Amino acid sequence: RQTTDRQYATYPAVTIDGYRVEVVANIGSLNDAKESVALGGEGVGLLRTEVMFMARALAPSEEEQTTLYRSILQVLGRDRSLIVRTLDVGGDKPLSYLPMPHEENPFLGERGIRMAFDQPDMLRTQLRALLRASGAGTLRVMFPMIGRLEEIQMAKAILEEERQRLGIAPIAVGIMIEVPSAAVMAEQFAKEVDFFSIGTNDLTQYTLAMDRGHPKLAPYVDSLHPAVLQLIAQTVKGASQHGKWVGVCGGSASDPQAVPLLLGLGVKELSVSIATIPSIKAQIRTLNFAHCQTLAKQALTLSTAAAVRALCPLVDE
Ligand code: PEP
Ligand code: MG
Repeated sequence: RQTTDRQYATYPAVTIDGYRVEVVANIGSLNDAKESVALGGEGVGLLRTEVMFMARALAPSEEEQTTLYRSILQVLGRDRSLIVRTLDVGGDKPLSYLPMPHEENPFLGERGIRMAFDQPDMLRTQLRALLRASGAGTLRVMFPMIGRLEEIQMAKAILEEERQRLGIAPIAVGIMIEVPSAAVMAEQFAKEVDFFSIGTNDLTQYTLAMDRGHPKLAPYVDSLHPAVLQLIAQTVKGASQHGKWVGVCGGSASDPQAVPLLLGLGVKELSVSIATIPSIKAQIRTLNFAHCQTLAKQALTLSTAAAVRALCPLVDE
């Protein structure tokens, strides 16, 4: 089965009734980019830039970052886009060279964009590198952990300031939807951005109030919980009211039981772990979009994650 999936890896992901989905990759390095292209990835839906910040003694310089982003764009070529998420550290992801005060609740503390506003030089350096690299391909910038409208407005204002200083053409801007407030207010947030990418790992953690890494809670931290699905539906609805598209870059994009539901809920792009690109594309080619829509509608009426999983049994295993 795996061999056949790989054989057809470069085929597009289209359902049997013609619904086209973009299957892109979650990556953390230039090597990952090469691997994802080799496996049929149609672009990058999430470059976790913290990977390049964490494995070192000092923050990478503007030059170093520009070179890396450019190299990744070159690997992807003109037809594949690259979504770069700005530094998403803090909370459970520490940086050795960035003193962070002890926090009682790191997941509810200075994480993601909140940390970036606290370290504006680091954010501005990264944004300048992204802008300078942007001419080498299709680059979009994405801000993590946005929960309040002011945060996206402030992040955009900083990006715009750096853009004007450099005299570079505008680039598309999106946000992660991983804080429940952003999903609930998707309609208002959609006016501010070009796209949304749902981070189901954190969205599930914050919706169910369960630590995503807690060993005992692991069986219950399920992204197919109907409460999470309702937030995804609300996100897609809000985005579509302003003609914006929605992707998913959290773990559920790589979960074969979730894929039909995500399609049915109107998600246009799945950003998956590299190894699963061929199998997720192959799965989409077996699906009927109209059926996915019916399934999604049904799932939204259910009360437990177990009931949702029972509705979407795994076909092949
Ligand atoms: C997520 O929260 O689902 C996500 C994609 O971001 P990360 O896993 O890097 O927090
Ligand atoms: Mg996250």
